[in-house]
Amino acid sequence: MKQTIGVSTDMDINLQSFCADEYEVREYLQKPFNLDGFTYASNGHYAVRTKLNDAYSELPEDKRESLSKSLTEYFNDLEDKTYQALPKLPELTFSDCADCMGSGFMEKQECFECNGDGELILSSGHNDYEVECYSCSGHGEIKRRNTEVKCECCNGEKKIIDIHKNSIELSGCKISNVYLQKFKDLKNIMYSYKGKYQFAIKFDGGFGVIMGITN
Ligand SMILES: [Zn+2]
Ligand SMILES: [Zn+2]
Repeated sequence: MKQTIGVSTDMDINLQSFCADEYEVREYLQKPFNLDGFTYASNGHYAVRTKLNDAYSELPEDKRESLSKSLTEYFNDLEDKTYQALPKLPELTFSDCADCMGSGFMEKQECFECNGDGELILSSGHNDYEVECYSCSGHGEIKRRNTEVKCECCNGEKKIIDIHKNSIELSGCKISNVYLQKFKDLKNIMYSYKGKYQFAIKFDGGFGVIMGITN
């Protein structure tokens, strides 16, 4: 028989699907990690915790202290919560990508007026004035849509799933349906509003925390 010590067999949760994508600058969030005797997966907006799975690596040493502190804070009281069943979730809706205005093509270029500074110094002859650049609205770059370059925001798909537009209200707090869709098929999933715009998730094999939407 194949050796499976250390690998959980009582759950088939795809932890990788809860990780951040390749564009995430915090590289340690791009795959599941082990910390304090648990295995975690997170994209920074939500996190899942399951029992330790030795197939994954310990979090890099320099990240351990701060993450240990925040994850303990998020997860320490989840067992004592009163949970309720998740309501039936609406389908996700797509919107036109605002970056490319639904064309699928967009290229960012340094602003021709402020050379990327976002502001200009104007002189009256008596004084110098710092003003926001009108051409780029202070962003320092201009979106050019007459281009062959694929839009980075929607990956050329023209449509995006907006995290905010796809929010629903649970226990008086807004939460993104995009995040809930990731969790919804976990076995026996229940939720509880923790307060402070945080939702606790319980399922067979672990717990989760999802950040609510504050505005
Ligand atoms: Zn400018
Ligand atoms: Zn786009």
